[in-house]
Amino acid sequence: QLYNLVQDLKGAIRVYCRVRPFLPGQSNGQSTVDYIGENGSIMIVNPLKQGKDARRVFSFNKVFATNVTQEQIYADTQPLIRSVLDGYNVCIFAYGQTGSGKTYTMSGPDLTTEETWGVNYRALRDLFHISKERVNAIKYEVGVQMIEIYNEQVRDLLLNGLNVPDACLVPVNCTQDVLDLMRIGQKNRAVGATALNERSSRSHSILTVHVRGRELVSNSILKGCLHLVDLAGSERVDKSEAVGERLKEAQHINRSLSALGDVIYALAQKSPHIPYRNSKLTQVLQDSLGGHAKTLMFVHINPEQNALGETISTLKFAERVA
Ligand code: ADP
Ligand code: MG
Repeated sequence: QLYNLVQDLKGAIRVYCRVRPFLPGQSNGQSTVDYIGENGSIMIVNPLKQGKDARRVFSFNKVFATNVTQEQIYADTQPLIRSVLDGYNVCIFAYGQTGSGKTYTMSGPDLTTEETWGVNYRALRDLFHISKERVNAIKYEVGVQMIEIYNEQVRDLLLNGLNVPDACLVPVNCTQDVLDLMRIGQKNRAVGATALNERSSRSHSILTVHVRGRELVSNSILKGCLHLVDLAGSERVDKSEAVGERLKEAQHINRSLSALGDVIYALAQKSPHIPYRNSKLTQVLQDSLGGHAKTLMFVHINPEQNALGETISTLKFAERVA
């Protein structure tokens, strides 16, 4: 209990690490994850090195092993969702290289089976559920926005227009409304992209849920919002290979992910200057990063040997902001 309290007060951010399993048909090689501790530690092993240089330990609030279900992942997120209805702003990020499981955590692999639903749908389901429980005390309204940030440009996925400063806010009344909107958003995301996967790995997608509650007795208004952010792939691009569009994309992604890291780091250090202006991503999320806002970052690890370099840099990024 006390430990949890201290954790809550400690940083501006909570960091959870999730290791995805080997996929069917993938090399059944050795995992780079040597050990996961109860206390949120993870040990990474480099098979090409010997002795103490071969292993490195990183520590977070929690580490989830490959066999952890979507439901278990969400169980540790749920208290944050409740606080949105109490008037807090919350950001939940998925960070990691392409293919490490970000979209799996946030959306899930398949919308048709509730069992595999990701954090997004479970969060929305709970928001509606809890708001109904409170119906005699507080009347809530819920609205949803979906945007994509690609090459530092914001695009509204529900309006399908380019560069909309105030993305359209669609009122929703139940989880099904949200599912319908997500489908529209996903479809719009694919427009103009050669392949959805290609595009989605190079843009940040942000689902924002705005909640407005009126307390029936006092008539006072409370407002909270929840940002669910599936970040662009964090992999570094070989500068000697990438050219033209690809290089530009890579530079934009790089800059915005470092800007995000810098903002969270500055918040944790209680720095007087928080560098929100350095990227579109941090500008868009400014009101929900810092102050009384709560932040959770899921960092994703691909356990394959050939991902080792990216795994280490992902964990270093996460350790800096934790
Ligand atoms: P990213 O969004 O980071 O590029 P994805 O979420 O698309 O990665 O995951 C890549 C592949 O791995 C997908 O086929 C996905 O279904 C699978 N996958 C990711 N995480 C898990 C998991 N925890 N359990 C089972 N399969 C997973
Ligand atoms: Mg993805």
